[in-house]
Amino acid sequence: MSGKKERNKERREKRLQEISLLRTIPYSDHQRWWSQETVAVVTGANRGIGFEIARQLAGHGLTVILTSRNISVGIEATKALQEGGFSYDVHQLDILDGESISAFVEWIKQKYGGIDILVNNAGVNYNLGFDNSVEFARQVVDTNYYGTKNMIKAMIPVMKPSAAGARIVNVSSRLGRLNGRRNRIQDATLREKLTNLETLSEELIDRTVSSFLQQVEDETWQSGGWPQTFTDYSVSKLAVNAYTRLVAKELCDRPQGKKIYINCYCPGWVKTAMTGWAGNISPEVAADTGVWLSLLSDQAITGKFFAERREINF
Ligand code: NDP
Repeated sequence: MSGKKERNKERREKRLQEISLLRTIPYSDHQRWWSQETVAVVTGANRGIGFEIARQLAGHGLTVILTSRNISVGIEATKALQEGGFSYDVHQLDILDGESISAFVEWIKQKYGGIDILVNNAGVNYNLGFDNSVEFARQVVDTNYYGTKNMIKAMIPVMKPSAAGARIVNVSSRLGRLNGRRNRIQDATLREKLTNLETLSEELIDRTVSSFLQQVEDETWQSGGWPQTFTDYSVSKLAVNAYTRLVAKELCDRPQGKKIYINCYCPGWVKTAMTGWAGNISPEVAADTGVWLSLLSDQAITGKFFAERREINF
């Protein structure tokens, strides 16, 4: 391993040790803005990182609604969690199915009146190792970007007003960094437009992903200047990151008491089904920054991207 890689690895390991120490420190009464009445929804919570986020949030005393596109799998996952004695509920939710989302929103309104936290964790990726197939590009972009967007649009109206503010956390990836050194869109003008909040718009993000999908269909994507690693997945997460910043900007004028804070984070390379269990950290560690962002008492934080509880550049 080169000296630089070695140093980066050491730095990461040190940070992970710091975080495991931080996780042992309980939240003080002053920091705890939530109670058992606080409702958190986690998408794709039947396994992997989503399951862990649900488990940890319930461990902090919130009511957690575990959602799963296959309800029987979701019920099984909830049973495993309930053994810990915490407060969970479960509901079917496929983030690509408008009817499923509407039924979920209605159920939330009836049973809980609204929610406080939304964790958009559900996602897909069909490449492993050095593969870079775009065979499932549409499904990847639809699920990771449009599915996340569907959920944000559907849930904002049912986010409860509160002094502490409601929160949205999007589980994203460093692979979707706009201005990363290696894996990024080559077109500097497009990067600038997507980076600059004055020019960033939903239409621009949609147009960018549509242009990628069109090139996949035309089989010209390889010379399209798209990120080189897990291209479809990187484009989908790039869109999630850009959309996070856009929504933060749109929500920032809400009056006190009706604030909604939205951030995204990269969980790292995680041992889950998505990586064929080839990652280098556990779902438990990977869930940490998502849980930390969900519970953050510093309300000024919105529209940011995090990894290992630290802000990183988009
Ligand atoms: P898993 O494959 O273990 O879990 C993905 C979850 O998303 C499953 O519960 C899956 O449901 C659900 N899901 C997929 N499509 C839908 C849909 N249409 N509607 C509802 N749920 C859906 O992956 P991870 O836990 O690793 O990934 C969780 C998140 O973390 C994803 O957003 C991923 O992109 C992100 N991430 C993961 C990394 C890693 O190294 N693992 C790295 C960076 C980001 P089902 O069981 O029914 O398939």
